[in-house]
Amino acid sequence: MFAFALKNTIAIYKMTPIYNHLKVVFTLFILALSTSFTYSQIEDTPLVEPDSMGSFFSKIILDGKLAYQNKKTNVILSQSEFLLLKDANFERILIKNNPAGYQFSDDHWQGDKVNPYRDVTLPTPFRINFNQTTFTHPVDNEIKITSRFGRRRRRPHRGLDLDLVTGDAVRSMLPGKVRFVGYSSGHGKTVVVRHANDIETVYAHLSAYSVKEDDLVTEGQMLGLGGNTGRSTGSHLHLEVRYKGVCIHPEYVFNFDGSNTIRGSELWVSKGWQSPRSHSAYRKSELKPLFTKEAAIIAQNSEPRYHRIRKGETLSHVATRYHLSVREICRMNNLYQNSVLKIGQAIKIR
Ligand SMILES: [Zn+2]
Repeated sequence: MFAFALKNTIAIYKMTPIYNHLKVVFTLFILALSTSFTYSQIEDTPLVEPDSMGSFFSKIILDGKLAYQNKKTNVILSQSEFLLLKDANFERILIKNNPAGYQFSDDHWQGDKVNPYRDVTLPTPFRINFNQTTFTHPVDNEIKITSRFGRRRRRPHRGLDLDLVTGDAVRSMLPGKVRFVGYSSGHGKTVVVRHANDIETVYAHLSAYSVKEDDLVTEGQMLGLGGNTGRSTGSHLHLEVRYKGVCIHPEYVFNFDGSNTIRGSELWVSKGWQSPRSHSAYRKSELKPLFTKEAAIIAQNSEPRYHRIRKGETLSHVATRYHLSVREICRMNNLYQNSVLKIGQAIKIR
């Protein structure tokens, strides 16, 4: 009897709008509970993002897959990208206290410029020093150089391009301190790390950062994720090696043959190893490290030299100035006697 009454009551109750109302409220309650649970889990993991501040991520479903969206910038990361960044964040916290006690010079320490050394003119040849003999390759996968330091479609290319897939980890080649984290129109998302003895490495076209300015980084620590930002066609890492603002041919310094060795603890850099004009981006240059100043001066004196065309100058002006014939200049530069010269064009004169 009681069971019948209850059944009847429920049956009557189910017909009333209040039941449907409660059902909706209950569903919403469960939904809110589950979302707030997942949100709070994610919000416990602030990550370093472009604004150099900790950011919070929300779990979202994108094309049926779990993804993470930066709540401030709305940038979406795949789950693997998010987890990589999370690990890197953990790494950052671990070495915050500089247990290795590395010292990095604060000369021209500017966090707003990729190159803060524009007022510095270095004498050439100059010397660079390393405290170690090996380095960590900045990309984990197989080493694939897609473009080298040198002339590329008549434009200078001042770095080494390494193939990667967007989202791959990009790592610091040496221990250092992060000087610059930011966007530049050519380089896209970029991280600059200063190492011992004022060597800097530049990592460009990234898709995300995992470090902040002034962070200390260990060798091999993740700096961000590779990508295709800035002036870039296809995802790759554009890597530059600099000393006080001067770009050096990366392969002159580091062996990218898999041995991960640095070519010398003391290397002399002649003009030729700073000039993309002296190299081709499409083939490997012959590499002869210079270990003494004398050797560097001798090498520099036999390196090709160039003249930059100024307004109104013709090939015969250049010929007279350097005691050459117009024909010789044409031969050295693959030019015709009547070729049109552009202002700023570099003409080989030796
Ligand atoms: Zn490049």
